[in-house]
Amino acid sequence: MKKTLRNIGIIAHVDAGKTTVTERILFYTGKIHKTGEVHDGTTSTDFSPEERKRGITIYSAATTVFWKDQQINVIDTPGHIDFNIEVKRSLRVLDGAVVVFDAVAGVEPQSETNWRLADQYEVPRIALINKMDRTGADYWRTIDMIKERLGAIALPLHLPLGSEGFDGLIDVLTQKAYRWQDGLIDEIPVPEACIVKMKQCRQQVIEALAEVDDELMGLYLEGHALDFDTVKQALHRATVNNHVVPVLCGSAYKKQGVELLLDAIVDYLPAPEERVHSTELKQAPLAALAFKTVNDKHGALTFVRVYKGQLTPGMSLYNSTLDKRERISNIYEMHADKREALSIAPAGAIVALAGLKHTSTGHTLCLAQSPITLESIDAPRPVIAYAIEAERNTDQSALAKGLQAMVSEDPSLSVRQDEQTGQMILSGMGELQLEVALNKLRDEFKVEVNVGKPKVAFRETITAAKDIVYRYKKQDGGPGQFAQMQLKFEPTERDSGIAFVDNIVGGSIPKEFIPAIEKGIRQAAQAGLQGHEVVDFKVTLEDGSYHEQDSSAIAFEKAAVLAFRELLKTVGTALLEPIMSVEVMTPNDYVGDCIGDLNRRRGIILQQQVRRNAVVINAHVPLAQMFGYIGQLRALSSGRASYTMQFSHYALT
Ligand code: GDP
Repeated sequence: MKKTLRNIGIIAHVDAGKTTVTERILFYTGKIHKTGEVHDGTTSTDFSPEERKRGITIYSAATTVFWKDQQINVIDTPGHIDFNIEVKRSLRVLDGAVVVFDAVAGVEPQSETNWRLADQYEVPRIALINKMDRTGADYWRTIDMIKERLGAIALPLHLPLGSEGFDGLIDVLTQKAYRWQDGLIDEIPVPEACIVKMKQCRQQVIEALAEVDDELMGLYLEGHALDFDTVKQALHRATVNNHVVPVLCGSAYKKQGVELLLDAIVDYLPAPEERVHSTELKQAPLAALAFKTVNDKHGALTFVRVYKGQLTPGMSLYNSTLDKRERISNIYEMHADKREALSIAPAGAIVALAGLKHTSTGHTLCLAQSPITLESIDAPRPVIAYAIEAERNTDQSALAKGLQAMVSEDPSLSVRQDEQTGQMILSGMGELQLEVALNKLRDEFKVEVNVGKPKVAFRETITAAKDIVYRYKKQDGGPGQFAQMQLKFEPTERDSGIAFVDNIVGGSIPKEFIPAIEKGIRQAAQAGLQGHEVVDFKVTLEDGSYHEQDSSAIAFEKAAVLAFRELLKTVGTALLEPIMSVEVMTPNDYVGDCIGDLNRRRGIILQQQVRRNAVVINAHVPLAQMFGYIGQLRALSSGRASYTMQFSHYALT
């Protein structure tokens, strides 16, 4: 196993410079020779036209680079809240992250959200304070914000230099100073005036490290002189164990600080084998997790992280999530501008597989004889649905194709056809996500669409038991139709669906007609009095009669449909609405306002917890009350609170 691999992600608030940092990493590692600028729309990780137009990074891409013979896989992560699923799935497969902050804006809301997600997945981090060249850049203030808002032990490894703006830095651990000329790093003597400050800073880093690392504490107490390698190793351990966060500075745009960032990625972030995995994994000979599927011009690619064993082209795999066989045709390492076919993908590798037919995000791939299922990446249940139709009738099939491609790439999107109107219903997690999807339909699939208002999926149920005796008789010249049945309907508990019980004894209805009765009832239950699905009841077939010539399966099915309609007319239905499990993360200052707002939305507060220096509020809120929530939440918390929600259960309105 290679000791030299790093699987990292770059996480940032939109606009902090993630794309530019990634671009510079590709430049310095020699993968591309002309750096693309974001504003030209030529950067090489952002390959979707939709992203180029918006200038934000949405879709993950894994890119392999080499720095001083060390392989680094860079997994791109989006910054916008609606794309939390993308952030989550990348966090799940990477071993470490570089969190980019804007030196002027400091810690922004999305950085807070993403930071907490990284806490949850226990991802070791390095902080890069970017945009040091901008007027108003403040390295120390940003570090204070990281400590206060994110609750991290932030260890500044750099001291910025420059009387007017940023023109170099001191690396306090190596005690060396650098400047850049035309994007090239130059070592310079440490300015006299900074020596004291540099020594103080170094001392502070060592003392903070000694507090969390027993080995360094021992050496420190015994009064040993601590060389760079000793401190570096201690800092590596402390970072990998999530005790501290090394902080660097730079200006990606001006190509200042990127080489030192690459060094720090290799020095402080973990190799794959340093991450602790489940004991279950230890027994399996092969395990890989799919974290992204992409349909590009070459066809479908499945991005996987190999946890155990190795993959080779031509290999047969078992998708344990779906219980399906798969075969790898090719394995690729994805570079910024090309892809390279591999003959082997060892444990720790992040690669793209061609040839898989069924696998999508969150599925485990393993050997059929030694199955294992890794914890999946849960795609939140879609919460907003829009009816969409192609503007031009001739675009129907292009629309269906486009929707299908988008759904297979993004498991938090789903599409279905409305039975009554025939319209396509696209569901997702948020308004921006759907907006992006619609733009993609327009740009990549060339379909113009009409979009309806967002909708909630209600259901109906009965609230009282009732016996229905139904006699169906038709005589109109040809062969007659006859069916008679006695049905008992009873309400059942929430989320129990529909239960059918056959109590016929003595053949009063022949066996072969009984499935038709069940079919008729299930079919009729698809649309209740208000057009929603009818659920949560039990129907018992008590008795009935038939006619030798005139009875048939069709006659019994029709009779069941009509009996069900009669039931609804006599007992009526009650409306059930979807209730969401909402989790709000907010700094302490806004807890009261957040709770007040949730109460106004008919929310029930379940619990409040302090997580690091944020408060997490869990509540149940009707989905119908959640439209436009993100705007309100941002407004009442100065943009600092965030939320996630998923379907919980149905309840009477
Ligand atoms: P992302 O949204 O996090 O991917 O950020 P981008 O890399 O797209 O950067 C957002 C904007 O900030 C772009 O216009 C960049 O050119 C600019 N930018 C990025 N890094 C720096 C920097 O170090 N200094 C300055 N002045 N601008 C930067």
